Amino acid sequence: MKAGKIRLKDIGKPSDQMVQLNPADFMRLPYPYDKADSDPDFKQLTEAQKNKYEASLDGVLAISIPKPETKAEEEELVRKFLSGLEKLLTKENNWTFLQPLTLSLEYCAKCQTCNEACPIYIGSGKQEIYRPTYRSEVLRAIVNKYIKKGGKTFAKFSGNDIDLNWTTVARLAELAYRCTLCRRCAQTCPIGVDNGLITHELRKVFSQEMGIAPVEIHTLGSMKHLKAGSSTGL
Ligand code: SF4
Ligand code: SF4
Repeated sequence: MKAGKIRLKDIGKPSDQMVQLNPADFMRLPYPYDKADSDPDFKQLTEAQKNKYEASLDGVLAISIPKPETKAEEEELVRKFLSGLEKLLTKENNWTFLQPLTLSLEYCAKCQTCNEACPIYIGSGKQEIYRPTYRSEVLRAIVNKYIKKGGKTFAKFSGNDIDLNWTTVARLAELAYRCTLCRRCAQTCPIGVDNGLITHELRKVFSQEMGIAPVEIHTLGSMKHLKAGSSTGL
């Protein structure tokens, strides 16, 4: 994808890589790591890795999603994502988080005050896709277009013109792991919108409905905790 302003719907447009990261843009670390030559090398993925895993967000693999082999497999994963999202928005399946999630999805004023509080966005040199609200806006547009009644009819006029395809889902999954869930953005938001919570809920869909989660957090963390009572296994 060509460099330039990134729009919401670009997340669904297939390309080798949505953004190219340049370490020269990253926030400088404090002394003694404040010189460019003190940075560790930024390792690029090999062609074999790119062919095997979904790396078209930013060329970084946090969760290493294997590429589906067939169109039918892609469509099945998109179906699972949408069905998981529908569950997320029902009282029967998600009563504990439904209210704060709905409020955060419905009431963002798009003032962008939260941007400056986000360590990922600032640390990356203000990469548009890491803006706290970029991920939330994508999810909001998908909900408005694909889940709400009449969403598809008015998508073009209501700012929800986004394609829900495998490219969108795979990039959104990686993007859910470009957030530390620190919730600094929520503390800064004048109306209490919680982009950290939106990311948390998004991860739930990938993990619980699609089996997509980093081994280090899911298998070696949550699952071990559930089985043994602590993530150390003791
Ligand atoms: S989340 Fe809050 S601070 Fe951020 S853009 Fe929305 S209303 Fe503004
Ligand atoms: S919760 Fe995520 S989006 Fe919000 S400030 Fe922390 S890293 Fe950024």
